[in-house]
Amino acid sequence: MSVSVSSPPAQAGAVLSIDLDAIVANWRSLEARQGPACRAAAVVKADAYGLGARPVAAALAAAGCRRFVVATLDEGLTLRAVLPGAEILVLSGPLPGTAAAFAEAALWPVLNSPEQVADWRALAARRDRALAAALHVDTGMSRLGLSAAELAALAADPALLAGIDIRLLMSHLACADEPAHPLNERQCRRFAAARALFPGLPASLAASSGIFLGPAWHADWTRPGAALYGLNPTPEAANPMRPVAQLSARILQVRDVDAGDSVGYGASYRCAAPTRLAIVAAGYADGLFRALSNRGCGHFGEQPVPLVGRVSMDLTIFDVGAASPARPGETITLMGPGNDADAIARAAGTIGYEILTALGARYHRHYLGGAA
Ligand SMILES: *Cc1c(COP(=O)(O)O)cnc(C)c1O
Repeated sequence: MSVSVSSPPAQAGAVLSIDLDAIVANWRSLEARQGPACRAAAVVKADAYGLGARPVAAALAAAGCRRFVVATLDEGLTLRAVLPGAEILVLSGPLPGTAAAFAEAALWPVLNSPEQVADWRALAARRDRALAAALHVDTGMSRLGLSAAELAALAADPALLAGIDIRLLMSHLACADEPAHPLNERQCRRFAAARALFPGLPASLAASSGIFLGPAWHADWTRPGAALYGLNPTPEAANPMRPVAQLSARILQVRDVDAGDSVGYGASYRCAAPTRLAIVAAGYADGLFRALSNRGCGHFGEQPVPLVGRVSMDLTIFDVGAASPARPGETITLMGPGNDADAIARAAGTIGYEILTALGARYHRHYLGGAA
């Protein structure tokens, strides 16, 4: 089955294809790697890393995934509308004044600070019922989360957690993509100490890369995002995940240029020999980073074609070679086999996460597979 949303393909300059079956296969392979005692909650924040939270979450739910993770209240509300029965964790927790909206939609806030704990406890008291939530302890990231001392204070005084139905104790790894980094062991030890304060409470430490550190990091729930979407969770080794996203843009114009002609803004590229250029309908407004100027590449069919000159807002230029049969209306693959998001990120000096989440809204989105 294949479903199309967004602008019609014939009207869009570029098409983003998203393989929902590959996302489901990736989720299953991560769960298989963890063994039966540990489940994987699907992280679908930032619109499922730019690939579409609604279709992605619906496909995963149909495949048996029952727990999802988003970053913000808005994302939680959007997801709740699609998945009425799923468990939805919201990483940012409640901003002041928003706790009631969490409860109304049965979203589980991740409580990151004593203030958020107090907010949630106060709401539970007003509603006179237990309200589910997760507790986040910081073990070395110095980002969100309770300090070890704040967590110990909560464990020592049950009144501070009155009315809070804690479903999960979680923490987040800072260096999981570098298996030899000493912080991985340290965070694992600190998390074990935190867990000892709440015996029997389900726990979660690893995101995508953490799953590959081994069973000591698995706990009861993992929280993969990137690996579901085909990014390599093991940057020091071959990518074990199935590719998910492919991006191709239409050629608007083909032009022949002479040796010495310059290309694009700033004349930053000069043709060494006569050649043929293909001008393609996607630019930095579509997430094709300007940092890829004179560094990126595309594929015309199987043939790699270098990106020349600066990426502009709506247009990008490729040197397809003097004898190229490329014609207007045909496509150049900007992301796909041989040039995945991780490879593009290396050329742009960033990480695949940023490439995916920067994908713009102008593409025609084409979803392959998923539940009927
Ligand atoms: C984004 C995020 C994840 C998912 O991380 P990936 O590396 O994409 O798997 C998991 N947990 C937390 C707290 C996050 O912020």
